[in-house]
Amino acid sequence: MSKHRIETIAVHGGQTPDPVTGARAVPIYQTTAYKFRDADHAVKLFDLEEAGYIYTRLNNPTVEVLENRIAMLEGGTGAVAASSGQFAEFMVFSTIAEAGDEIITTNRLYGGTNNLFFHTFKKLGITFRPFDQNNPDEIKSLINEKTKAVYLETVANPGNDIADFETIAKITHENGLPLVIDNTYPTPFLCRPKDFGADVVVHSVTKFLGGHGNSMGGVAVDLGTFDWAKSGRFPSFTTPDPSYHGIVYAERFGNMALAVKMRVQTMRDIGGCMSPMNAFLLLQGLETLHVRMERHVENARKLADYLQKSDMVDWVNFPELEGNPNCERAKKYMPKGTGAMLSFGIKGGQQAGKAFIEGVELATHLTNLGDTRTLVTHPASTTHRQLNAEQKAKAGITDGLIRLSVGIEHIDDIIADIEQAFAKAKKA
Ligand SMILES: *Cc1c(COP(=O)(O)O)cnc(C)c1O
Repeated sequence: MSKHRIETIAVHGGQTPDPVTGARAVPIYQTTAYKFRDADHAVKLFDLEEAGYIYTRLNNPTVEVLENRIAMLEGGTGAVAASSGQFAEFMVFSTIAEAGDEIITTNRLYGGTNNLFFHTFKKLGITFRPFDQNNPDEIKSLINEKTKAVYLETVANPGNDIADFETIAKITHENGLPLVIDNTYPTPFLCRPKDFGADVVVHSVTKFLGGHGNSMGGVAVDLGTFDWAKSGRFPSFTTPDPSYHGIVYAERFGNMALAVKMRVQTMRDIGGCMSPMNAFLLLQGLETLHVRMERHVENARKLADYLQKSDMVDWVNFPELEGNPNCERAKKYMPKGTGAMLSFGIKGGQQAGKAFIEGVELATHLTNLGDTRTLVTHPASTTHRQLNAEQKAKAGITDGLIRLSVGIEHIDDIIADIEQAFAKAKKA
């Protein structure tokens, strides 16, 4: 299957017709546990000597199709699905780091990630140290013997910043560290971070991968590129795990060591697994990923063009536009398009912005993205509200910033809706 193209993997990856019933669609295995053949079988499963199902917190046949499909789309060796994108991030860093350790992260982050990294992980003794995404050299001065990874987003939420991946990957690898990338915005259809040096990818499957705004989910993909043993920084991969019969993950599982450790250690102990029903619903969306993404991109490009010409708009931030600071990197890393996310500054500031988001009729004002429907958000009053003025400025958020997740409706209807909301904003 891996030899197939991304469109084919999106439809078929990780699945063959059900061996028992012949069911062609992925069946929903809504069960918590699985009958052991005999006592010996149970022993082998628990010793990880034989692959099989034990308990749905650890693995489930429906969830496994989603995991394997996304792993194939990203070119990885294994993936672990989680209850949400937030949990996928938590799973990665609580598997590779422990109290006293440090992670280096870009300062351009999704609001939820920002809270998780700088507040919740801090309580657990894991320190996230931010670097300026536009100055990768800063990473060098932040690395010390406690550093465990470098983290960034392919297209950063909500500023649409695209990092210089190759330079960052080079610095990261020269120091024996893995590069972890949140690839939620472009999805593997528009960008494969593995091609530019990523070692681990995380997704909020809730967004474009699922694509229909109906189910929460996350996934972490082990791209199989990082040598945990060679690095010398990861004793929890190279010394026996007393909680798992003394298994040495790097030795026993090689290029899938992270995927296995996340599942049998972190998922086993902390939970946060994806439900089979959500995996099924997210798979329905995933099958049309390539078709949806093409339309998302086409609509976003047309809308960006319209907004640029509108007299109600101060500026448009869409990475593909000529003159956008991210334009060259957009072309280099995402030639098929950077996705459906764009933002703009409305003329008339805060008041006009409020009238606009309250004035849209087809588009919906809420906090989400990556839905078939066009969505609008106002980060300063919602997702990034927790940040102080300085943090907001660093994250690229101004009071008049309006973010759009452009849906797959007819573009003329989307533009007509924006136009009538502009008319209301003008009156205000
Ligand atoms: C939404 C989002 C997350 C968090 O995912 P949830 O599924 O909402 O938990 C993480 N990163 C990015 C870029 C996101 O957009």
